[in-house]
Amino acid sequence: MATIIDGKKTSTDIKDELKLKLIELKEKGIEVCLCVIQVGADPASSIYVNNKKKACDYVGIKSLSYELPENTSQEQLLDLIYKLNDDSKVHGILVQLPLPKHIDEDKIIEAISPDKDVDGFHPQSVGRLSIGQKGFVSCTPGGVIQLLKRYNIAIEGKECVIVGRSNIVGKPMAMLMLRENATVTTCHSRTKNLSEITRRADILIVAIGKPRFITKEYVKEGAVVIDVGMHRDENNKLCGDVDYDDVIDRVSAITPVPGGVGPMTIAMLMHNCVEAVLM
Ligand code: NAP
Repeated sequence: MATIIDGKKTSTDIKDELKLKLIELKEKGIEVCLCVIQVGADPASSIYVNNKKKACDYVGIKSLSYELPENTSQEQLLDLIYKLNDDSKVHGILVQLPLPKHIDEDKIIEAISPDKDVDGFHPQSVGRLSIGQKGFVSCTPGGVIQLLKRYNIAIEGKECVIVGRSNIVGKPMAMLMLRENATVTTCHSRTKNLSEITRRADILIVAIGKPRFITKEYVKEGAVVIDVGMHRDENNKLCGDVDYDDVIDRVSAITPVPGGVGPMTIAMLMHNCVEAVLM
């Protein structure tokens, strides 16, 4: 029987651990503060921002939200970021993506102080991860590592195949698995004979953005499968990049969608906010 990796429970465990750390910090007079900036009123972004605020309330992080109109200029947004960079009471700054088209996302990410880059998207954070230095780790791949560790899934020496090479999931995921001493292969849309490669994986991590793409032909018997994908299917039901029902009899462990990787992202954001104080 496959182990179903429960991201909801693991995320609550992490948030409960952080709650205790935050009480200790408060006793020392430190109030951890996250600033969340949203430009425009994209409904999906508003839900994410709201969930982040709720998580802050749960763990005891002060959250300040900046809801800016859609027509905010790049300069106005940069000015706000510079102001928050200079505010010693602010520990984390998060700009909800995507931004309106007239704003250059790279410029905005680079403007955030690397010391407050709790999303882990700043080039300095990415560089630190690549060369094994301490720094903020992008929340979703950081959450995957936590799931593997907390479920005692050995990583060292294992064949890990990652499908997807985005800057926010695939690439940092590969760096993290290397750091954990896995043998890592990264696949993408130009990879030839994908299923031959994925069938080598002891740990298969999928982040491609294609509903139920990975079927049992892609999975080795006994593999651990981590599904980062998140979609609504034609019946408005949430599903991942992996065809869960098709692979379930073949895997030794798997993350479901919903309730797998998804809830871990916010837990790791909260973790990064606390790290921002301790770093
Ligand atoms: P992305 O930026 O669109 O990147 C997708 C990656 O998959 C690209 O590297 C692409 O290759 C590769 N790819 C696409 N089709 C492929 C195929 N047929 N075979 C092999 N590789 C293929 O996506 P992302 O931001 O990484 O997100 C991936 C999924 O994870 C999405 O469903 C997203 O909603 C979900 N997600 C969930 C969370 C969370 O749970 N908290 C967070 C982030 C993302 P190329 O580079 O060659 O184009």
